[in-house]
Amino acid sequence: MNTNDVEIKLDANHNEVWCHDHKGNCYSFDAYIDLIQSFHGFAAPGLIIGGRMVATALQHIGQRVMFDAVCETSHCLPDAIQLLTLCTMGNGWLKIEDLGRFALALYDKHDGSGVRVALDCEKIKAWPEIKNWFYKLTPKSAQDTSLLEKEIHKAGSAIFNVKHIRVKPKLLQKRRVGTTIDCPMCGEAFPTKHGPVCRGCQGEDPYSPTSDERDLLAQPNLIAVPAAEAIGQKVLHDMTEIIAHKSKKAAFVHGQTISAGDLCRLQQMGRQNIYLEEGNQAVPGWIHENDAAANFARAMAGEGVVVKDSPREGKITFRATRSGLLVIDEQRLEAFNMIPGVMCATRQSGQLVAEGRPVGASRAIPLFLAQDLFNKALSVLDSPLMTVLPTRRAKIGILVTGTEVFRGLVRDEFEPLIRAKSQKFGCEVVHALVVPDNRQAICDGIRELVNMGMDLLVTTAGLSVDPDDVTRYGLMDAGAEDLLYGIPVLPGAMTLLARIGNIQVMGVPACALHSKITAFDLLMPYLLAGKNITRRDLARMGHGSLCLECEVCNFPRCPFGK
Ligand code: ZN
Repeated sequence: MNTNDVEIKLDANHNEVWCHDHKGNCYSFDAYIDLIQSFHGFAAPGLIIGGRMVATALQHIGQRVMFDAVCETSHCLPDAIQLLTLCTMGNGWLKIEDLGRFALALYDKHDGSGVRVALDCEKIKAWPEIKNWFYKLTPKSAQDTSLLEKEIHKAGSAIFNVKHIRVKPKLLQKRRVGTTIDCPMCGEAFPTKHGPVCRGCQGEDPYSPTSDERDLLAQPNLIAVPAAEAIGQKVLHDMTEIIAHKSKKAAFVHGQTISAGDLCRLQQMGRQNIYLEEGNQAVPGWIHENDAAANFARAMAGEGVVVKDSPREGKITFRATRSGLLVIDEQRLEAFNMIPGVMCATRQSGQLVAEGRPVGASRAIPLFLAQDLFNKALSVLDSPLMTVLPTRRAKIGILVTGTEVFRGLVRDEFEPLIRAKSQKFGCEVVHALVVPDNRQAICDGIRELVNMGMDLLVTTAGLSVDPDDVTRYGLMDAGAEDLLYGIPVLPGAMTLLARIGNIQVMGVPACALHSKITAFDLLMPYLLAGKNITRRDLARMGHGSLCLECEVCNFPRCPFGK
């Protein structure tokens, strides 16, 4: 395309036209400078050139096209588009892809075809003032503005590079805000896609904290007395004694009376002054750490999780009431921990936990938590954070696939392996079949196991890229649905998950023979807990699911799958 095709028209007064808007209203060079001064504040050279670029694009795209705009810089150029077209940031018809390139494109909003106008670096070499300005070769103070404007005027469209483009499909999609909820921290509405709390409360807001927001963890005016004067009085909170490398325990508990004999120990603990119950008992507008912890405990514990003891040193510990799969509501946990003055730490979601073992702990950070922070924290906890799902003792059927095994050329190693692993999960392998790598044989084998009443089928091998690997087709023939094939776990990337009615199916790739721990070990707890596994669940497993293949395997006491 030749930029010289763009004719410079004359307006009614025979002034040369510098640019025009989408309706065809023309502006002389001087009139356009007046326009941008009233909109932009000053006649920025980029905006003068930008007007001409927009006019050039308008002429190329044609009058009848319903167009959107994309601008490749956030400097000056967007204003030219907003001045001369209906495309603005606010109505979403102007998108800024800040690539730092001085270019814009107008495109048909239905088919994405359009025209891109850019400043041509080769062509501006012929215009020294423009080149100096564009590459910032002259300091702004030394720039001769009127000379630069004259040169811009004279250059007109000769410094542009114009070409046809087609935008990527994502630019043709409508802007979707998605669901909106109230932020548990600031109370203002925001799109849920931003996370559990709004982006402002995630620390992205542009304001410095005001004086009353600055000290979020301020404490009420508590009365402290010197230790010697505290004899015979009750302490306000548990006091922890830490002996390095030896012990950490509550030396004094909330409500304990201090005796004369305690003075020496208090001194050793570095406690010169003591908060007493008297005078500090109920502080209006403030929640004592133990009360806060007890309230969090009630809200956080889901099924299979309990808090046995009352808070110690302000902290509560959650334990599993049964063995099973620990499920943490990670989004909610993150939202809770975003609130200043509170904390909750848990074990990793998706782990098998034994009855009685700890699964998480929570506390308030200060001795007294401000009522509004306490309320915010509780408002996040409108459903439980921690649940332990019971796992069942599955009746497992194994289908070993492999013509070489079927013919007896190679001894099957899979059955004993799956059998041993299943036993570790408390499951029983009821039946095992060996079939050749044949679609029909696999389908028949699966049907046989289904008819025998198995509730979990494990197929082995035949999941790779070889032409003989037909296990997944045999499974589909046997009625497998919701097939998920290929997962972000190594070893075990070729793993397959599916179901036939209510029967769960896991296809185990051949790597299981080589590697001690694979995707099988990560996925079994979910299957036994009857948890539906989605593509998204699998996608999230990718983070942390690269096995280091250590010589001595310590799984599950290692980072694999965490
Ligand atoms: Zn917020």
